[in-house]
Amino acid sequence: MIKEIKKLGYQPHIMRGVERTVIGAIGDERKNHTLETLVAWPQVERVMPVQKRYKLVSREGHKANSRIKIGKDIVIGGEEFVVMAGPCSVESEKQLMTTAVAVKAAGAKLLRGGAFKPRTSPYEFQGLGEKGLKLLAKARKETGLAVITELLSQDHAEMVAEYADILQIGARNAQNFQLLIAAAKTGRPVLLKRGLSMKVEEWLLAGEYILANNNPNLLFCERGIRTFETYTRNTLDLSTVPIIKQESHCPIVIDPSQGCGRADLVVAMCKGAVAMGADSLLIEVHPNPAEAWSDGAQQVNLEIFGQLMKELKPFAQAAGRTMA
Ligand code: PEP
Ligand code: MN
Repeated sequence: MIKEIKKLGYQPHIMRGVERTVIGAIGDERKNHTLETLVAWPQVERVMPVQKRYKLVSREGHKANSRIKIGKDIVIGGEEFVVMAGPCSVESEKQLMTTAVAVKAAGAKLLRGGAFKPRTSPYEFQGLGEKGLKLLAKARKETGLAVITELLSQDHAEMVAEYADILQIGARNAQNFQLLIAAAKTGRPVLLKRGLSMKVEEWLLAGEYILANNNPNLLFCERGIRTFETYTRNTLDLSTVPIIKQESHCPIVIDPSQGCGRADLVVAMCKGAVAMGADSLLIEVHPNPAEAWSDGAQQVNLEIFGQLMKELKPFAQAAGRTMA
C-alpha cells in the first residue's frame, strides 16, 4: 500500500494499531490523483479524505463573504437583503408587466421568470423561449429591475446571457456539468439550484465548476429536496443556510416556492430563511395564481407579496440586514 500511495504522488505516514494500521497519505487530493480507488485493494478497509474536495468555493481559502454585483447597483451577499420575485413562467406581456411593476413597488430588486421551462411532462407548457426573454428585457427597461431566468441548454447560453443579469441553473440540471461550464463561460453571475436529490457536498462541487471556469459570481439556491414527506412538494432544507455559510463564501438564496410547493407556506419559510441569515430569496409571484401556466399552487399573488415584503423587514433587521 505504501508503494501504491507513493505511486499516486503522496507521502505515506504509517500508524500501526492493534486492530488495524492507518496509513496517512500526505498531499493535496485536489492537485494529485484521487486516492478513492485504493479502496479496491483487499487490504484496504476504507479511504477517508480529511480535506474538503472543493477548493475555490470553500470558506477555507476565502474567509470574507463574496459579494455578487448584479448590474449597476445591486449587491447580493452584502448588508442589504435582496429579494428576487416574479412568475414561475413568463406567459404574456400583460402578466409579466403587471407582476414586474408590483414586485418593484414592493421592494424587489430582481425580476424572475422562466422563458425556457424544465417541465416533467412534454405536454405541459414549455415556456415562450426567446419571446419570453424579450419580454423580460422589456420589463427590465420599464422598471429598472434586473432579470434572472433559467438557462436550460448549452445551445442557448449566449442568447440567454444576452438578456439575463443572472443565469439560473435549475434543480434538474444542477449536475449537468457541461451546462455549468457553458454558463460559467458566459461571464454572467450564476444561481445554482440544489438538485432534487443532491447532497450538500455534491452541490458545492457543482458550484466548484463555476469558479473553476473563471467565474467568481456564484449563488447557491436551496429549493427543497425529495423526501418521503407528501404534505409539501419538496422538503425545504433550511439547514443549508448555516451549512453553506460555514462551508462557502458564496451567497445562499432560498426558494420557498419550489421548496414547499404551497403558497400558504411561503411567508413563514421566507421569515425563517431571512432570520437564519440567508442572503436573498427567490419567490414566485403571479397576478392570478389560479390561472398560472405552471406552478399555480405555489405562487403568491401580488397582494400577499406586498404584505410579505413589509413583514420581512424586522426579520432582516434582526439578522443584521437592511431592506429597502
Ligand atoms: C423554477 O424556478 O421555476 C424552477 C423550475 O425551479 P427548480 O429548477 O428549482 O425546480
Ligand atoms: Mn416554478
